[in-house]
Amino acid sequence: MTRPGTIDDNRSCWPDEAPPYQAGPALARDLTADVAIIGGGLTGVSTAWHLLERFPKLHVVLLEAGALANGASGRNGGQVLNGINGVEPRDGAAALRIYQATSAGIDIVEQLAARSSLDAGFVRSGCLEVSTTALSAEDARRRVQLANSWGIPLRWLAAGATGVHGAHGAVLDPSAGCVNSASLVRGLREVLGARGVEIYENSPVSRIEEGASVALSVGTSTTVRARSVVLATNAYTPSLGYFRLGILPLHSHVVATQPLAAERWTEMGWSGHEGFSDDLDRIAYGCRTPGGRLLFGGGGNAAYTYRMGGSPVLEEPCYGAYDAIEKRLHDYFPALGAGGAAITHRWSGPLAVTFDRVCTMGVGGAARNLYYALGYSGHGVALAALAGRVLADLYAGDHDPWRDLPFYQRRLPLIPPEPFRWVGYQIVTRATGRSPRRR
Ligand SMILES: Cc1cc2nc3c(=O)[nH]c(=O)nc-3n(C[C@H](O)[C@H](O)[C@H](O)COP(=O)(O)OP(=O)(O)OC[C@H]3O[C@@H](n4cnc5c(N)ncnc54)[C@H](O)[C@@H]3O)c2cc1C
Repeated sequence: MTRPGTIDDNRSCWPDEAPPYQAGPALARDLTADVAIIGGGLTGVSTAWHLLERFPKLHVVLLEAGALANGASGRNGGQVLNGINGVEPRDGAAALRIYQATSAGIDIVEQLAARSSLDAGFVRSGCLEVSTTALSAEDARRRVQLANSWGIPLRWLAAGATGVHGAHGAVLDPSAGCVNSASLVRGLREVLGARGVEIYENSPVSRIEEGASVALSVGTSTTVRARSVVLATNAYTPSLGYFRLGILPLHSHVVATQPLAAERWTEMGWSGHEGFSDDLDRIAYGCRTPGGRLLFGGGGNAAYTYRMGGSPVLEEPCYGAYDAIEKRLHDYFPALGAGGAAITHRWSGPLAVTFDRVCTMGVGGAARNLYYALGYSGHGVALAALAGRVLADLYAGDHDPWRDLPFYQRRLPLIPPEPFRWVGYQIVTRATGRSPRRR
């Protein structure tokens, strides 16, 4: 059983696989800009990058409440995946379109990782979706055949090649990958700065006053005025007064082992791929980090509590959630149980889950100058990177490349407010054992 005092609580392993990072200075004066981006995760830095690619002279300011990659981008499962959570196209053309669009998101992760001044350890050797029953394996094999007939290069792996104890086989997406997105994001600070982006960390935005020129209250006494604003705040967005009924901030809990030697990975039957998720509603997922740790996370009842009130900040560690995750880790990788590998990290991170799991990217606001991309529902590394390109295109008035995709200007279905939200969540999750997942 994991208990207080044994591990530095709520510390993600990702920053520990990079040189120490110091957050930059907070905003200390009022300023004006063409575009102000709120949030320094993947969505924020990718948007800054793509805006500057299109408009090299644009004056862009990025405001981050903590350090860059303070949120999900520094606390995730590391997998860079194809697909849009909640969308299961039934026809080949739509499926291929989504696969190609999200593969472009993976390409962007690769390009940004290559530009980052920190080694983000990006690898693209594929990720698995593991079947945990014979029935689901049958269904998954059929999905692979269908996908292949549509030109999507998924492959079926036999049970022995998955490295996961009890697996009945797995779908391999060879174009998926893994990345240390904390390093990717933080290593872009310097690169974006050199292109003229002003980045201020420890600079929380507390208020947005809309208009042709948007006024942002930052910290205790400064104001940023900008002609356009980007909400790159994912699970935190409701606290700024936006998407309150569109997003449910949930937490996923994660643990990581000490670094394992290469031979251990081979002994475990890990065959080339870098990450996996299982097919259970209460999903488990994991990856081999660039530093050789097994990162392992999942969903559970602790994902949402009334105490959180929907807040993305989980104040106290939830030991029950970590215990459940460690148990599943040892079921899937028995060689790591009973002292086989020490757990060195455990943490949680905020997801923005929408009612039907589908994200949204678009522009709105009274003066149509408020850009947003959020609600990736736990499947957002590639999508957040892609969002940067989408939002830069929308800023340029170029909507056509994206109109046919399910996230384009998508109106999110409403989730009831508290206390109905909490009651509904408890009933659904406890009665059905279901948690947010990809399909
Ligand atoms: C535990 C966990 C595991 C995950 N695993 C995977 C995975 O394996 N694969 C995958 O594809 N996706 C995964 N995800 C989801 C993925 O990490 C996110 O979808 C993605 O990182 C979202 O990026 P973002 O930039 O939109 O949001 P974030 O990274 O959350 O960034 C938002 C930023 O906004 C800042 N902010 C918030 N409010 C304010 C404010 N008022 N003023 C200024 N700044 C503010 C925050 O500090 C934060 O840094 C996981 C998420 C979690 C939490």
